[in-house]
Amino acid sequence: MMVIMHEGATDEQIAHVVARIEEVGASAHVSTGERVTVIGAIGDREDLTALPLEACAGVDRVVAILKPYKLVSREFHPHDTVIDVRGKKVGGGHFALIAGPCSVETEEQVMTAARAVREAGGTMLRGGAFKPRSSPYAFQGLGVDGLRLLAQARDETGLPIVTELMDPRDVDDVVEYADVVQIGARNMQNFQLLAEVGRCGKPVLLKRGLSATVEEWLMAAEYVVKEGNRDVMLCERGIRTFETATRNTFDVSAVPVVGLLSHLPVVVDPSHATGRTDLVLPLALAGVAAGADGVLIETHPNPEQALSDGPQSLPPEVFALVSQRIRELARWAGKTVS
Ligand code: PEP
Ligand code: MN
Repeated sequence: MMVIMHEGATDEQIAHVVARIEEVGASAHVSTGERVTVIGAIGDREDLTALPLEACAGVDRVVAILKPYKLVSREFHPHDTVIDVRGKKVGGGHFALIAGPCSVETEEQVMTAARAVREAGGTMLRGGAFKPRSSPYAFQGLGVDGLRLLAQARDETGLPIVTELMDPRDVDDVVEYADVVQIGARNMQNFQLLAEVGRCGKPVLLKRGLSATVEEWLMAAEYVVKEGNRDVMLCERGIRTFETATRNTFDVSAVPVVGLLSHLPVVVDPSHATGRTDLVLPLALAGVAAGADGVLIETHPNPEQALSDGPQSLPPEVFALVSQRIRELARWAGKTVS
């Protein structure tokens, strides 16, 4: 439930309400706004409703949260979450431009890609070292060697690294190098993996599952936040529908829907959503116009030679133009790209 304090409630009054909530074994989460403070309580519903919180000094009203997810809900935390990744911010008016190859392949490939991303105004570098491939015969990624190459690219360009974790057994390696840990669409409901990244101390980029509803996606984020990690950005990357003209169907409505339901930032991935280079720009712009807090785009120095997702990867010169258009629209939408 939510306890909404009166404007001007004192620190003592807030601390008293927190203490009463904790007395019954529930947890209290304080969200301090410009005018009012809201305290979210999570615990046994009966124990909490039996507490006479409305009678406590400084309390305006108590309301039940009806949604199955709590910590990630906008009701619980009305203010936008802003995630700081080595000084690059996402959410609450800050826009991220995350780009790079699908997979880390060679030193030359990742360094060339990283320089192109930085020169085009990208704010973070993506690249997979552990790859979830539909075929067991396809390139599976360079593993820890790939992570080291990403770190080398970060050292040179200053771009923070976004890279995928697929297996809880690799968490220490990935966390050692990554600035943002990506959980891929296929693992969105790998609950042990979600709990693991909830304890890993690094921001998380959580892709929407191939056939996940918005509610299932937010419940997946709840698994991460419940472990104490509030820095989760959601990523809409297209869902499975009957349509075959594109690799997936980009659910642009998910962007404002999630923005209403949750305080977490949302980024869009038009590369995996469409699977086609010629659709990346229009759908990236659609996502930004719908209120996205960032975009994630695949770019490769030589898409024709890419070991994964070449057909959707933009060559550097195209990425530079696409990046410019996205940044212009993001600024028009009142966002800071930095
Ligand atoms: C990726 O980002 O390269 C990737 C595999 O994405 P998804 O999990 O969205 O398919
Ligand atoms: Mn990919």
